[in-house]
Amino acid sequence: MTHINRRNFVLSTGAAGLALAAPRFSIAQGTKKVVVVGGGIGGCSAASYLRMLDPSIEVTLIEPLKTYHTCFMSNEVLAGERKLESIGFGYAGLAKRGVKVVSDTVTAIDPVARVVKTAGGGSYAYDRAVVAAGIDFKWGAIEGYDAAAAEKVPHAWKAGPQTALLRKQLEAMRDGGTVVLCPPPAPFRCPPGPYERASLIAHYLKRHKPKSKVLIVDASTAFSKQGLFIGGWKALYGYGTPNSMIEWIPGDKTDRGIAKVDVAKKTVTTRFGDTHKADVLNVIPAQKAGKIAVDAGLTGSGDWCAVDLATFESKVHKDIHVIGDASAAATMPKSGYSAGSQAKVAAAAIVALFKGEQPGKPSYVNTCYSIVGKDYGISVANVYELGQDDKGAAVIKAVSGGVSPAEASPEFRRREVEYAHSWFTNFTGEVFG
Ligand SMILES: Cc1cc2nc3c(=O)[nH]c(=O)nc-3n(C[C@H](O)[C@H](O)[C@H](O)COP(=O)(O)OP(=O)(O)OC[C@H]3O[C@@H](n4cnc5c(N)ncnc54)[C@H](O)[C@@H]3O)c2cc1C
Repeated sequence: MTHINRRNFVLSTGAAGLALAAPRFSIAQGTKKVVVVGGGIGGCSAASYLRMLDPSIEVTLIEPLKTYHTCFMSNEVLAGERKLESIGFGYAGLAKRGVKVVSDTVTAIDPVARVVKTAGGGSYAYDRAVVAAGIDFKWGAIEGYDAAAAEKVPHAWKAGPQTALLRKQLEAMRDGGTVVLCPPPAPFRCPPGPYERASLIAHYLKRHKPKSKVLIVDASTAFSKQGLFIGGWKALYGYGTPNSMIEWIPGDKTDRGIAKVDVAKKTVTTRFGDTHKADVLNVIPAQKAGKIAVDAGLTGSGDWCAVDLATFESKVHKDIHVIGDASAAATMPKSGYSAGSQAKVAAAAIVALFKGEQPGKPSYVNTCYSIVGKDYGISVANVYELGQDDKGAAVIKAVSGGVSPAEASPEFRRREVEYAHSWFTNFTGEVFG
């Protein structure tokens, strides 16, 4: 279990600017109310750090799920390397941190009255709100693929029952079958995620159904950590040979993705018009900010919520901060670790703003491990700072970081898997208590 204190906070946010600003934080006078919409990675992190930075703030977190399943390590569940239960987390730890946890769904946010309404009839007033509603899918972007179709052909891009369904289908597949995996067009949650998934499904097939293969029918022409993934696929799955267990069709050979899904026949048709038949089909649709963010007008006319990158306050509605996947915070990838880092920046800014102070200049951090197969891990890490582009607009700029080396010893790759697992333990301890 990770105990959060002010020192850990400064270390784990990686925020040089915040570190300088940290000693100025003190207990705010009077009761200020923050309502956090969404108890995933960003929401739980923001709620926890708000309480830690200023225990006088009343923090209410509203989340419908009793158990949240992390997407990270869900690909290991698909590979049969871990149980679904091992990625499930409840909210008792948040309650211990003094967060008021409400099990409900937010149906409306009134930015003028500063009130959040829930399906259960609740009404929660706020001085500031944090919206961390994650993603929703652009149903309708692919002919034949909607929410009902996803009950038969899973996306498994929100972990939980969808992960269990895809795992069940993989287990039931005959040896010699083809798993067709269709990554979405960018930007999407977890850029390396589809390729880690292809790797870990191949890992499962190699051990249990060695005549089978994974076919990636992509919307992109290049992907995150591509050189490292392909190196791993060559080392483990015969990539590039006639017997490769993984085949990748890049976006310029599909004319950028799939146009149609036939759920009954388990086929996908690319925009080019080629049809691929699957034994198990995994379609990951195009994405946008979670529905409540869209309904509250926070996305404006786009798919993601524009924010002030120093505070994550919405550019549409004041006093509402949007963090995590729902926010438009390029160049940071849409990852859990990014969401946690953004939560700390937003929490520190909210505390400062309540005190009438100028928020500090933030830095941000992201780390992302991918497990390619047995004893074979790779990673990317970046530290970012708030900067300006050549027109003077605020941007998040990567100032250091990189990927693991292309030429690494087997021991190095093995350790990266260990680091991935310890990252998971530490990070989920930090987020959920
Ligand atoms: C296969 C896969 C692998 C991944 N691997 C990694 C990895 O290794 N490392 C990493 O850092 N990231 C990884 N990610 C990405 C990571 O899971 C997401 O980026 C992260 O969960 C984003 O956090 P969030 O808080 O924005 O959204 P979420 O964690 O999705 O949380 C959103 C929450 O809001 C709730 N919600 C939605 N609407 C409402 C409403 N109306 N009212 C109340 N609550 C609501 C939802 O129930 C949910 O709990 C992976 C993703 C996938 C799919």
